[in-house]
Amino acid sequence: MRCPYCSSLDTQVKDSRPTDDASAIRRRRVCSDCGGRFTTFERVQLRELTVVKKSGRRVPFDRDKMMRSLEIALRKRPVDPERVERMVNGIVRQLESQGEGEIPSQRIGELVMAGLKRLDDVAFVRFASVYRDFRDTTDFEALVNELKTREDDADEASEPPRGRARPTPEP
Ligand SMILES: [Zn+2]
Repeated sequence: MRCPYCSSLDTQVKDSRPTDDASAIRRRRVCSDCGGRFTTFERVQLRELTVVKKSGRRVPFDRDKMMRSLEIALRKRPVDPERVERMVNGIVRQLESQGEGEIPSQRIGELVMAGLKRLDDVAFVRFASVYRDFRDTTDFEALVNELKTREDDADEASEPPRGRARPTPEP
């Protein structure tokens, strides 16, 4: 597995155990070159899923993108990552087990919002406000960018001026 930090191929598994619901194996890895640590999940993929966007464009379903948008919506929220993992697994299972291999993007957005509502109110509002602006496109890349931008704006607004660390210019 290639190191996500330095791209070295020399990485080692330090620990390997099933997730709480035993639906995946979680591996803690460390890079021999840069010492970077990261986690990978091995899980069952029942079938390939295709997302049909509102524009009619078809793209492969990307679990990681969905996960990233959730991580940003949940930033600094007291939610156990295992619960997020279980929620995403549940969504993917639902998508995989429905008859169609092609899924309207809107359907995914609805499932994510329903899941977030049970998980955390604040994250739900963050995600929903952005998602609704996008009017069902469920372009997770765009959601990620938009959520990030709003998060930064919120940080800026909520922090007192003295709280902001600014680099002091070198003399
Ligand atoms: Zn590395």
